[in-house]
Amino acid sequence: MSAQIGVTGLAVMGANLARNLARNGYTVALHNRSIEKTDTLLLKHGDDGEFIRTETLQELVDSLEKPRRVLIMVKAGKPVDSVIDQLAPLLEPGDIVIDGGNSHYEDTRRREAALSRQDLHFVGVGVSGGEEGALLGPSIMPGGSRESYDSLGPMLEKISAKYNGEPCCRWIGTDGAGHFVKMVHNGIEYADMQVIGEAFDLLRLGAGIEPADQAKIFTDWNSGTLSSFLIEITAEVLGHIDERTGRPFVDVVVDAAGQKGTGRWTVVSALELGSPTSGIAESVFARALSSQKEQRVLAQDILHGHEGSVDLPETFVEDVRLALYASKLVSYAQGIDMLTAAAKEYGWELKLDEIASLWRAGCIIRAELLDDIMKAYAEADTRPANLLLAPAFAEAIAGAVPAWRRVVATAVQLGIPVPVFSASLAYYDGLRRKRLPAALTQGLRDLFGAHTYNRVDTEGTFHTLWGEDKSEIEAVDTH
Ligand code: NAP
Repeated sequence: MSAQIGVTGLAVMGANLARNLARNGYTVALHNRSIEKTDTLLLKHGDDGEFIRTETLQELVDSLEKPRRVLIMVKAGKPVDSVIDQLAPLLEPGDIVIDGGNSHYEDTRRREAALSRQDLHFVGVGVSGGEEGALLGPSIMPGGSRESYDSLGPMLEKISAKYNGEPCCRWIGTDGAGHFVKMVHNGIEYADMQVIGEAFDLLRLGAGIEPADQAKIFTDWNSGTLSSFLIEITAEVLGHIDERTGRPFVDVVVDAAGQKGTGRWTVVSALELGSPTSGIAESVFARALSSQKEQRVLAQDILHGHEGSVDLPETFVEDVRLALYASKLVSYAQGIDMLTAAAKEYGWELKLDEIASLWRAGCIIRAELLDDIMKAYAEADTRPANLLLAPAFAEAIAGAVPAWRRVVATAVQLGIPVPVFSASLAYYDGLRRKRLPAALTQGLRDLFGAHTYNRVDTEGTFHTLWGEDKSEIEAVDTH
């Protein structure tokens, strides 16, 4: 018997993907650096389907049908390179090496280039949905060559999450495109979670609504335009009571948010691409500030807020819902803008409607909103330059703006930090402004560094002789 796919790296993600493949009728060869994980999987879940136990990479390779497909699910970073280095010499031209971990897309681009020189396909696959998704159906974002997808795609589509019967797996684009899209997904996830946190903070500190009552509010919100996995689980977490103390669970958890780095990667790459991803960036910084516990403790006694008092409008809860919705839309708009910028930079033909479609199930940011995002990008001739410019979203956000402004103003008055609500509103206002103060920035840059400027009334590049008679000369563009 030969296996249709091999999996090396059988910690939680690898084991669950291997089980998912086996449950879907594929024979899966199993390998792990140390044999214990392989045997544990076989012992506990050996009857999930057909597995082949292997102890070495050579045995793994020998057990596979050709062209071989090997899924690497080891710790991201150097371990992936180490496994590739051991694996590649054992493979033959046309074989496919798949990295389903959270690798950086630049690493994936580098690995793809190196393996293609050996006539091997390297496919970086973004997998979202955590442990449960890996087992029951994740959202899958494969990169690599189109040719490799012909061989691999049907398998990945079969094990992926389904939305109305459609697989949440599509070929994304060449080399690192899959991992890039997964990274941006995670960036949006950071912002999504932060805006939920800001709403929670406003409802609690602003309106005095306790977590248990907020759980009901979030449950209610989950049946409207905000309907999403994250809103659903927010209700669950807020409604949870700590067994030991009888207090709301959120009150006994240390308020320092962890991060594994994909949010940071998103922001770094947004900066490199020149994509204004302010909401996502603020959400990463908010986690960083939350983790500076020592400074925050010191600041409580030293820094004064001089908070004002505010008569909350009766509509406050609804206002917060609308501000949350608008800020969330901005996060998606910014994430999509990054995808557009990256497509240009890396020569990827990213299909934004397909990407939105495969985030509709299986992944953490799954939301009803994605259906409309998908529709917004479906037709080439009506594709918006920015998500917010799609008629349906322009209208929805316009309806939310008055509430959004009230909420941000209230938060500022009360000293409640709402970095993503406010950064998103500033982005929205910046985007729709006819003229920005960047004209002054250009003037300053020209004065101190002769960086030149363009004029609104004529073509060409100019410089003012600031140190002389302030006359203007035509200049060579130094950009
Ligand atoms: P992990 O803890 O990241 O890695 C543990 C696995 O890597 C073990 O099988 C370990 O083998 C192996 N490993 C580590 N260093 C190795 C090396 N130098 N050579 C060979 N094998 C090595 O595992 P995980 O949590 O299952 O995650 C796997 C990947 O999925 C990671 O990239 C992770 O970031 C990603 N991930 C994704 C999600 C998601 O939602 N998509 C969730 C979690 C993780 P031993 O047993 O021999 O130590």
